Formats: sequence, structure tokens, C-alpha cells
Amino acid sequence: MDRIDPKSLETAQAAYADVYLFIDGAWCAGSDGRSIPVLNPATGAPMAKVARAEIADLDRALAAADKGFRQWRKVAAFDRYKIMRKAAELLRARAEGIARLMSMENGKPLADARMETLAAADLIDWFAEEGRRAYGRIVPSRAEGVQQLVVKEPVGPVAAFTPWNFPINQVVRKLSGALAAGCSIIIKAPEETPASPAQLVQAFVDAGVPAGVVNLVYGVPAEISEYLIPHPLIRKITFTGSTPVGKHLAALAGLHMKRVTMELGGHAPAIVFEDADVERAAKLLAGAKFRNAGQVCVSPTRLLVQESVYERFVAGFVAAARAIKVGHGVDAGVQMGPLANARRVIAMEAFVADALEHGAKLATGGRRLTGPGYDGGFFFEPTVLTDVPLSARIMNEEPFGPVAPVIPFKDFDGVVAEANRLPWGLAAYAYTSSLKTASAVGAAFESGMVSINHHGLALPEIPFGGIKDSGYGSEGGSEAIEAYLNTKMITQLGL
Ligand code: NAD
Repeated sequence: MDRIDPKSLETAQAAYADVYLFIDGAWCAGSDGRSIPVLNPATGAPMAKVARAEIADLDRALAAADKGFRQWRKVAAFDRYKIMRKAAELLRARAEGIARLMSMENGKPLADARMETLAAADLIDWFAEEGRRAYGRIVPSRAEGVQQLVVKEPVGPVAAFTPWNFPINQVVRKLSGALAAGCSIIIKAPEETPASPAQLVQAFVDAGVPAGVVNLVYGVPAEISEYLIPHPLIRKITFTGSTPVGKHLAALAGLHMKRVTMELGGHAPAIVFEDADVERAAKLLAGAKFRNAGQVCVSPTRLLVQESVYERFVAGFVAAARAIKVGHGVDAGVQMGPLANARRVIAMEAFVADALEHGAKLATGGRRLTGPGYDGGFFFEPTVLTDVPLSARIMNEEPFGPVAPVIPFKDFDGVVAEANRLPWGLAAYAYTSSLKTASAVGAAFESGMVSINHHGLALPEIPFGGIKDSGYGSEGGSEAIEAYLNTKMITQLGL
């Protein structure tokens, strides 16, 4: 049995060690000892291994989650709150070391990894407090002596599936919501970025979460989801990832009548009207687009700019893209790291080639980065494509990488039609100095989240989630804890 030494987490870690499963309060290898290599995306070289769960391990995790749920649901909301707040404090104290691990496994700049870790602590705090406010209500009855109670109860053991783009953030929203509500959880975290989610779990363990309440597994994603989702002990499924996989898992969950939250892909329109502060919009949108090398579900990915300011916007946006310092995430001053895996580099090359074939112009970038400092790594230049026809793949498929298509538009109705043309509806952005236009476009977007004149998404206290093919349910705001609660009605006549 291998254990993570909590003391080693107090200080910044230079080494990236093997990562294990966490089942029933103990770190452990998979039952047949198999593992999956973890690559450094900045070099392409293996750094360590992550344990692979087999069905026997999943059975142990299920039994632990069942036991954990029976215990945790009886812990008072106030005591759950205290443990969660302690986990948040531990995370803050360990942020430096955890951020380094995250940067090494995902490629993102250290500053971004630090921000993600600290933001996770804020999320835990918020959910901890929200758990204390998971009130029911009393409904006035029609008959004397009858009391009608609406009671909130934890839904039960949760199976959570999370991706590699925000290794901690994608886990913490699910974990905190579940724990605050009184649920236990089995997390299937990403095999490509396993160490930082393991540290998140360790913070909860050190804060005093009882054995069995939180379980962490890695392995073959399809094998694990096909086993956990139909399993009768699991009562709630929550998934973040691509739309095709989300649809498949939602269908499986539907077959077994499980509660579901789906946070899927998007292809966010970002509209720049001619009355906007164009230079500011170009700078902010470039910052948002190339953050995390574009591997963000709410990234502004279709830049729609009014004709009269198109050239000015493109000049500002291209200048901002060219100024981005690309390199190893752990190196000082780096603003964009490598992509998280080789698949994304191949995908970017294909998007660019296809757009150029369709007649788009390459304003900057367009190639994978090689040479000193980049060799072996999954680096791609910040890329801007202009005048991209709607028939190009990148105008129809989520880029999920550092390639930005920019196109001009004529009028409000035309741009709204383009914004709502695709099947997704996760995030949408607009820049304008007119209150009238801001209100009209806010109302017109078919989108779960709208941000106007700034980028203000993903705070703990506001809803986070999509509509249409971007999924359903919310992972922020008071809606997020509702996702882990059942509503029970009790009507009783006092005799
Ligand atoms: P993918 O579709 O293979 O996987 C996406 C995520 O789903 C991964 O974390 C993967 O482990 C998981 N997954 C895949 N099949 C699964 C299954 N059968 N059961 C359970 N989990 C499963 O794609 P990828 O190459 O890893 O990522 C590329 C695409 O995924 C992107 O284009 C983007 O659309 C989407 N994505 C979205 C988010 C998000 O935040 N919404 C995050 C990562 C990836």
C-alpha cells in the first residue's frame, strides 16, 4: 500500500511522483498492478505513472461510497462545513506545490495553476457555506392540523467524471457540491493530469473527511463509466467533457433513471459592435481566447466583428496574439504553455489546413512550434484566421486550442443569427457601449451564460452551465447544490 506523505505537500514539490487510487480512506495501486504513463506535455517525455482501476477496485470504491454516504449524510451540515473550510485552508497553504504539479502535468503557466488552486479553495468555502443554507420549507395546508414539509436530502453516492483542461477546478465543483449536500463520491479524474486532483483529495482527507466519503479512481474512462453509471448504488452522475461523450453517458444514465449534470463543449460567439472600445475588446478577447492555450469550454471561439471596425480589431487582436510568450508552464514569464496532449496539436493543424483550403487568411501563427525549448512538446503558435467562411470546420466544431477565427458582420439581426446558428449554448460574449444593444444581445443569445463588456464567468456564487448541446444543470450558484439534493414532501396530520 502506497501513501502520499502529507508532509511533503506542505512545501513546493519539484518532483512529480506516481499517483495512486484513493479508496475507502487509503491510497492504493490497482488490484492487478497495471498503470498508465503520465507525459510532460512540454517535452512529450513520461514523468510518472498513474494507477489503473479494475472492476474489483470499482467494486471496493462502490462499497466504500455506500458506507461513506450512510455516515456522511448524518454529519450535521455545520460539521461538514467545518471540515470543508479546513480543506480549503489546506489547499491554500499547499497551493504553490500543487500548482507546480498541475503546471507540469497540464502544461499551463504556473501563475494560472496557482490561480486555479486558490480559486478551488474559494469554491470549497462557498459550497461549505451553501450547505448550511440547504433549507426546506413549510407549505400552508388546506386542512387544520396538517403540516406539509418540503425536506432536502442528499441524493446519494455520486459518480463524477472530469477532464484534463482544469485538473482541479473541474473536480472541485463536483466534489464540493456533493460533500456540502451530504453525498459521498467516486471521482474518475483525468489520467493525463492525475497528480493535482490527488492533492485536492488529500486536502479533504487531511481535513478529516471520513473514509469512504471521497474516492478517487483512474483507468480506462469508458470501462469505468459503463460500470459505475448503471450500478444501483450510484444515484447521481456528473460529467464534464465533450458533447459526444456527454450524450452517450446521459443516455446511459437515462436508461437507469439516474440524476445527471452535463457540462459539455461550446463554441462561444464573441460579438464586437462598432460602438465598442475596440482596442480594449481586442486585448481582453485575446487574453480570454488564448488562456489555457484555448482549451477552455467557455473560450470565445467565434469572433464576430462589425465591418466598420473589423480591420482595427484584427490589428489589435493579432498584435496581442503575437505578444504572447509561449514556453514551458513552469518557466517564469510564460503566458501560454503547450497543449495538454498530442491530440490537440494534430487537431489544430487540421483546423488551420481546412480553413485555408476554404479560403480563410492566416493573420498570424498556424504551425506547431519546434526547436530549442519546444522539441518533443505539444506546442502550437497562437493563431488568428481572418475572413473564415462558415463552411470551414473551425466555424462548426469546437476548436479547443489556440486557433481563433475572426469574421466580419453587417448588422444586429445577422450577427445574432450567426451567434445562435450552432447547436451549442454554453457561453456568449459581446462588446458595446450602448445599453440598448447590450440588453438586446443579452436577451437574444441562446446561451447558458452571457458576459458583456468583460469576462465575468466561473465565480462560485453565479450559475455555471449550458443549454442545447452544451448540456444541462449548473455547477455554480445555489443551483449547483440543488443538483445533489432530493426534494421530499412529508404531509402529516398531528393526532
Ligand atoms: P474525449 O471526448 O475523448 O474526452 C473528453 C473527456 O471525457 C476526457 O476527460 C475523457 O477522459 C472523458 N471520456 C471520454 N470517453 C469517456 C467515457 N466513455 N466515459 C467517461 N469519460 C470519458 O476528448 P479529448 O481528446 O480528451 O478532448 C477533446 C474534446 O473534449 C475537446 O474538443 C472538447 O470539446 C472536449 N472537452 C471539453 C471540456 C470541457 O471543459 N467541457 C474539457 C475537456 C475536453
